[in-house]
Amino acid sequence: MTSGIRFEDVSVAYGGTTVLDAFSLTVEPGEVMALLGPSGSGKTTALRAVAGFVRPAAGRVFIGDRDVTGLPPHRRGIGMVVQQYALFPHLRVEDNVAFGLKARKVNKGEIPGRVAEALEMTGMAAYGTRYPRELSGGQQQRVAIARALAVRPGVLLLDEPLSALDAQLRSGMLAELARLHRELPEVSILYVTHDQVEALTLADRIAVMDKARLQDCGTPRQLYRRPRTEFTASFVGNANLLPVAVGGAGVSFAGTPLKVDTGGAASGSTATLCVRPHLVGLGDGPNALRGTITEVQWRGATHRLYVDVGGRRLKADLRELRETPELGAEVTLHFAPEDAVLLGAGVTSDG
Ligand code: ADP
Repeated sequence: MTSGIRFEDVSVAYGGTTVLDAFSLTVEPGEVMALLGPSGSGKTTALRAVAGFVRPAAGRVFIGDRDVTGLPPHRRGIGMVVQQYALFPHLRVEDNVAFGLKARKVNKGEIPGRVAEALEMTGMAAYGTRYPRELSGGQQQRVAIARALAVRPGVLLLDEPLSALDAQLRSGMLAELARLHRELPEVSILYVTHDQVEALTLADRIAVMDKARLQDCGTPRQLYRRPRTEFTASFVGNANLLPVAVGGAGVSFAGTPLKVDTGGAASGSTATLCVRPHLVGLGDGPNALRGTITEVQWRGATHRLYVDVGGRRLKADLRELRETPELGAEVTLHFAPEDAVLLGAGVTSDG
C-alpha cells in the first residue's frame, strides 16, 4: 500500500494549552521524514495525531488520499514503534508479532508466514519462542519493529525508537533502520527524535519543531548549509551566530567589514550571520577577524577554539593543528564568503 501522510493545519490542545499549533506538513510516499526538536515541542503529539491516539481540535490528517482524522487507530494502516518497546511480557516473541494481525482479523492461515517474514526482516528469526524478558533491549526493539511491520503498514511511525538503547547499539540500529527502509521503499516513515545525528543520518527531509510549531523543513543538506532561522542553525549542527549590521557590500561585525551574500537585505538593518565552526580557518584569509583565545578543547580529530572577537565568542573547529594553541594568544580567524548565511535580515522590496 502506497501512502504518504498529510497534516493540514492540525492543532491539538490539552486543557487550554496549545501543544500543536496549525501544523501542516506533507510526507511523500516512501519518504523518511524526521520530526526534530527539543523536548516538549509537540513532535510526539503530531505523531500520535497520525496514529489516532489524539484527536485534533482543528485540522485534518490524511494517509494517502484518505482523511483519517476521525478513524480509530486500527483502521489507519499504520505500524508504530515507541521508545519503551511496549511488548507484552507474557507473550512469546512470535505471539507479540502476531498480535496486531489477530487484532486486524488477518486470515489465521496467513499469520505464521507474516510473523516469520517480519522476524526475518529484523534479524530475529531465531528468537520466536523466547519471552521479551529473555532478550536484550536492542533485541526487544527489533521485535517491536517486527510487530509494526507485520501488519504491512503503508506508514511507519517511530517515536524515539533508539533513545532507550546505549550509544553503540544505537548506531547499529540506525544502520538497520536505513537498511529496512531500503527494503521497504514504498513505506512512508515519520520519525520523531531530538537527536540531530539520527535525523541527519536517516531522513530524506527534516521538519524542525519548536514551541508547538513547524519552524523549518528541508533536506538535511539544505537545513545544514542554508538554515532559514537561528533556531534551525543552532539545532541542526553547531553554529556561530554573529550579530551584524548590513551594509552596502556586505555586513559588519564588531566593527570589521565582512564580505557575504546579503541576498537583498536592507542596508542599515541588523541581522545574524551563521558560520559553522568547522568552516572557520586559522590564519589570514578572506573575512579575517582578530581575537584572543579564551578556551581550547582538544577533541581528538579537532581542536575547538573559543576566541573573543570584540567581546563576542567565536567557535572554530580546526583539524590538523600540529601544536595546541595557547590560551590568551592573539589569533586571526577567517571564513569564505560562501560559507556564511545571513539570517533574519529585513529584505528590501527590490531584493
Ligand atoms: P515532544 O514529543 O516534542 O517532546 P510532546 O508532543 O510529547 O512533545 O508534548 C508537547 C507538550 O504537550 C508538552 O508540553 C507536554 O507536556 C504536553 N502534553 C503531551 N501529552 C499530554 C497529555 N496527555 N496531557 C497534557 N499535556 C500533554
